[in-house]
Amino acid sequence: MTSIFGIDLGTTNSCISLLRDGKPEVIPVDGSPIVPSVVSFDGDSVIVGQRARNRALLYPEQTIASIKRRMGDPGPVEIAGKSYSPEQVSAHILTYLKEQAESQLDEEVNNVVITVPAYFSDAQRRATRASGELAGLKVERIINEPSAAALFYNHLQLDEPVGNGEQLAVVYDLGGGTFDVSVLRIGEITEVLASTGNTRLGGDDFDQKILEFCVDHIKTKHHLDPRPHRPAMARLLAAAERAKIGLSTVPYVRIEEALLPVGGDNTIDISLELSRERFEDMIQDYLDATRDEVNKALGEASLSAADIHQVLLVGGCTRIPAVIRLMDEMFGPSRKPPVDPDLCVAKGAAIQGGIITGQSCEHVFIDVTAHSLGTAALAGEFERRLQVVPIIPRNTQVPVRRSELFYTVAPEQDEVNVTVYQGESREPEECELIGKIGLRLAPAPAHCPILIEYAYDLDGIIHVRVEQKGYSKMKEANLDSRRRGQQFGDVLEDEVIDLDLDDLEEDGGEPDDAETSPQLLNYILQKARNALEQLRNDGNTEAGDLLKLITAYEQALGGEDDDAVEEAEERLLDFLDELKAD
Ligand code: AMP
Repeated sequence: MTSIFGIDLGTTNSCISLLRDGKPEVIPVDGSPIVPSVVSFDGDSVIVGQRARNRALLYPEQTIASIKRRMGDPGPVEIAGKSYSPEQVSAHILTYLKEQAESQLDEEVNNVVITVPAYFSDAQRRATRASGELAGLKVERIINEPSAAALFYNHLQLDEPVGNGEQLAVVYDLGGGTFDVSVLRIGEITEVLASTGNTRLGGDDFDQKILEFCVDHIKTKHHLDPRPHRPAMARLLAAAERAKIGLSTVPYVRIEEALLPVGGDNTIDISLELSRERFEDMIQDYLDATRDEVNKALGEASLSAADIHQVLLVGGCTRIPAVIRLMDEMFGPSRKPPVDPDLCVAKGAAIQGGIITGQSCEHVFIDVTAHSLGTAALAGEFERRLQVVPIIPRNTQVPVRRSELFYTVAPEQDEVNVTVYQGESREPEECELIGKIGLRLAPAPAHCPILIEYAYDLDGIIHVRVEQKGYSKMKEANLDSRRRGQQFGDVLEDEVIDLDLDDLEEDGGEPDDAETSPQLLNYILQKARNALEQLRNDGNTEAGDLLKLITAYEQALGGEDDDAVEEAEERLLDFLDELKAD
């Protein structure tokens, strides 16, 4: 029986896949499951994929990306003085996928299912089919991307039952260059009730924001504009994308590039830090725009968020924690854990191909965290309350590794107790305390960063690593998520923690004594330090004033006077508020 392959022919990336032994598998090309949808012409030779993408900034006139946006256009595209139809360019991508898959497998690739956006018109679908034929492929079927994603997600055996009867699903697809949202009715057949989006919004815009951040840094620090220097910009853009991807799992990234060519024989080295919080601020307007589109799609389908049974996340950018938070805000528990968001359309196409050839597909078991795992920290913006800050949110696919940065409260603070809580509440008393890990600290000023990393594996073991950054103090422990009250290291006596919790109840939220409390502060100082970094990057003279307020706050935290802490905190927060208002 001839196999039918699935192809996700994406705006930014493409993938080829196959149902093998009942499981959808993506066939790696050049060592990666995803292939950039970029074509570059070098004389008579055609370069496709990552190599073409690398050439895009150096030889833009010879290279074309995002051809999918032109599918169905009657006019040709001009590349390096020659004209090509969009179908021809797309056919180069398909040919590359075909050839590469054939070289990986011991079989020919002739028959395919290709996915297209739900909003694609007839002309665009015909053009997609034509490009398949130009690549020598028999296009068995063109299917909608959200329907392929739904096919994949509903083939997974998640901890909750898939649900019987008709299901209403929202497919939120945030890729590299486009954002699509579709509302589906999934029954015997899958029907697209509404589909909308923005064909010019995606991860590339987020990369651009980080790129601008780097350019501003270079302008301020090195007094030069790197933008005319293409090789430097190409490297910065690649570094920006890596930073964005890194921030999906760690709270801070360092962007470092050595010997960036900035004209003549001149080079510069850059090293700057970007926090997830800052990055999320940069992309907030884009995320708000996606929220509006989701509401529009729901309106067009005459539904509200409460009617939706499943929210399926598709596209590499749905790994960004702020996107997941947005979906949780809008849909709460209907959200399914993101599983292979950048591969799920291709895998769904492979399942469709398998169904056409009469193969049965097995359910694939996916483990997810049933509860959020977090730690208690002083986290209030206006009052310093002990709250549980999630590190691994509920419904995250395991195994998973995530980290967050916290700060000590007092100068010379000699230890921290890291509490590991399981549960959805922000109130420690309402969560289960799995265990505590005590770490003795090296003498350091207040706000010394403490990195807490949780790795959760398939056996339910939480591997916790606590590190005092910059002081080589570190402690690791394995906690069994099914047990309670495990202790590792020099955990301070319970009464210290209990004292804080009792105080919270009695005094309405103020921990008694910041200096002896082994807790961590993760909000105000982090916010203030981010703002300071921004002002410094902008060359803003207010940076000096902010630094004074931060220093005063740190000094107050280290002292005995609660009123002084409150006053310093208020002044700092007022300043930050004003800054935001400007
Ligand atoms: P897609 O079009 O679905 O292949 O998505 C590609 C986009 O997802 C690109 O902008 C990638 O940089 C982005 N992306 C991939 N992985 C991640 C990640 N872990 N966190 C954030 N963005 C990601």
